[in-house]
Amino acid sequence: MFKNIMNEKMLKFVSLNQANPEKRDSEKRNKDFKEIYNSFIESKAGEQSSRCSQCGVPFCQVHCPLSNNIPDWLKLTAEGRLREAYELSQSTNNMPEVCGRICPQDRLCEGNCVIEQSGHGTVTIGSIEKYITDTAWENNWIKPIKVSKEINQSIGIIGAGPAGLACAEELRKFGYQVTIYDRYDRPGGLLIYGIPNFKLEKFVVERRTKLLKDSGIKFVNNFEIGKDMDLYQLKSIHNAILIATGVYKAREIDIPGSHLKNIFPAMDFLIASNRKGLGDKVKLFDNGTLNAENKDIVVIGGGDTAMDCVRTAVRQKAKSVKCIYRRDRENMPGSAREVANAIEEGVEFVWLTNPKKFIGEEKVSSVEVSKIKLGKPDASGRRSPEVQENSEYEIKADMVIKSLGFDPENLPKLFSTEELTVSRWGTLKIDLDTMQTSIEGVFAAGDIVRGASLVVWAIKDGRDAAKEIHKYLKAKIIQKNKEKAA
Ligand SMILES: Cc1cc2nc3c(=O)[nH]c(=O)nc-3n(C[C@H](O)[C@H](O)[C@H](O)COP(=O)(O)OP(=O)(O)OC[C@H]3O[C@@H](n4cnc5c(N)ncnc54)[C@H](O)[C@@H]3O)c2cc1C
Ligand code: SF4
Repeated sequence: MFKNIMNEKMLKFVSLNQANPEKRDSEKRNKDFKEIYNSFIESKAGEQSSRCSQCGVPFCQVHCPLSNNIPDWLKLTAEGRLREAYELSQSTNNMPEVCGRICPQDRLCEGNCVIEQSGHGTVTIGSIEKYITDTAWENNWIKPIKVSKEINQSIGIIGAGPAGLACAEELRKFGYQVTIYDRYDRPGGLLIYGIPNFKLEKFVVERRTKLLKDSGIKFVNNFEIGKDMDLYQLKSIHNAILIATGVYKAREIDIPGSHLKNIFPAMDFLIASNRKGLGDKVKLFDNGTLNAENKDIVVIGGGDTAMDCVRTAVRQKAKSVKCIYRRDRENMPGSAREVANAIEEGVEFVWLTNPKKFIGEEKVSSVEVSKIKLGKPDASGRRSPEVQENSEYEIKADMVIKSLGFDPENLPKLFSTEELTVSRWGTLKIDLDTMQTSIEGVFAAGDIVRGASLVVWAIKDGRDAAKEIHKYLKAKIIQKNKEKAA
């Protein structure tokens, strides 16, 4: 669409600056980047959007799981055509304002921006995506779905996380009757109870789920498949099923002292904090058990969930917050930006360190740790941690938060459907073309298929699953009609 607008001056500027780092003066850069658009608007979003070089090879788009048409909506934003920018951005993404806030852009779109690659600092794509959609909400451009022709077929979706919500919205647009079942009391999945409020404000999630309700999608909360109803019962009341249950089994750490009090899985800590933020009464928070205030906090783990825990503890006014991780900073699985944020906020990282035992009488009072050196790369390509002998020492801890990752729950057992096949990691196996599980008419999407992943991938899977469910149901009707005619 707008691929040829990068003028000669721009090309010269990019190549010149690649060769001469001393030319990378930000004021001059912004001035030069502004000039390619005549109707440049004087807002930060406009200023940033106009820095897009429209490079012709949209690496940002290629590295966005949703293939968002980033260059085009940046151009529209730079020209002040925000409503069109919003329409374009929402055409590939069910929750652009959510992704704009919490995608690890440094690993996705922004990390692959040509301007970033040439050393000039990325166009802040995520912030612009958030800005465009927040503006759309403020201006009432976002409306519930109006179905032109209702289809008398229904889909039951298990799990109201981003995969389930995105699938529901797409199916409703086709006109299907959609019901989402969730074992929590609120929809949103990890958007509501996992990701902290300081990264993703809860009103942003609630606004989205209300929109879906207003679009005619039914929500059945506090309803657990496997407990309140089994999978086959659910299947008998719908024409198709989507399983989008996420992964929730916390990985354990098996060391002496694990039985001591005040050692918690990350989700217990985060759910309590999120519930407080939503105004709920939370006994274990209110009595101080799950509140980090005035405590020495130790978080074990180096992923994004660990970063959320340390940053939540800082906000709860912990006395000190330490993060123990067995590899070094370069080998941490979490987003580099999140680590930098945590350091800036006062979190102390104890890299190359492994917990050896929890010490205390009844409650934990310290963690004995060993130092680690990194050995040869393992199967994953990362250097494997090796414990250094006689390197033990103690770190004081009033509360320990374990954040070692998540595995899928045993769904075939929970759902009483042994014929539901899973991979060796316990994730659901699906046919990659049809997204169907081993049971006909039962589809799956999101973390329960991929393993712990990202919101943007869950949205992509939910959208793809909706297309496949639509194909499947259409084929069923055609088959039925043929049978009737025969
Ligand atoms: C603490 C934390 C922070 C994260 N931060 C980020 C981030 O900053 N950026 C990012 O992109 N990703 C982040 N992620 C990952 C992201 O949240 C997930 O990849 C994404 O939410 C997966 O979506 P989903 O729809 O597959 O599952 P989920 O969001 O987990 O939703 C699954 C839903 O299914 C429901 N459910 C489960 N079993 C049943 C059952 N038997 N019956 C009924 N309902 C059931 C659950 O209650 C839940 O509501 C984070 C994850 C965690 C844990
Ligand atoms: S969805 Fe995520 S990766 Fe895609 S453009 Fe938005 S912030 Fe970037």
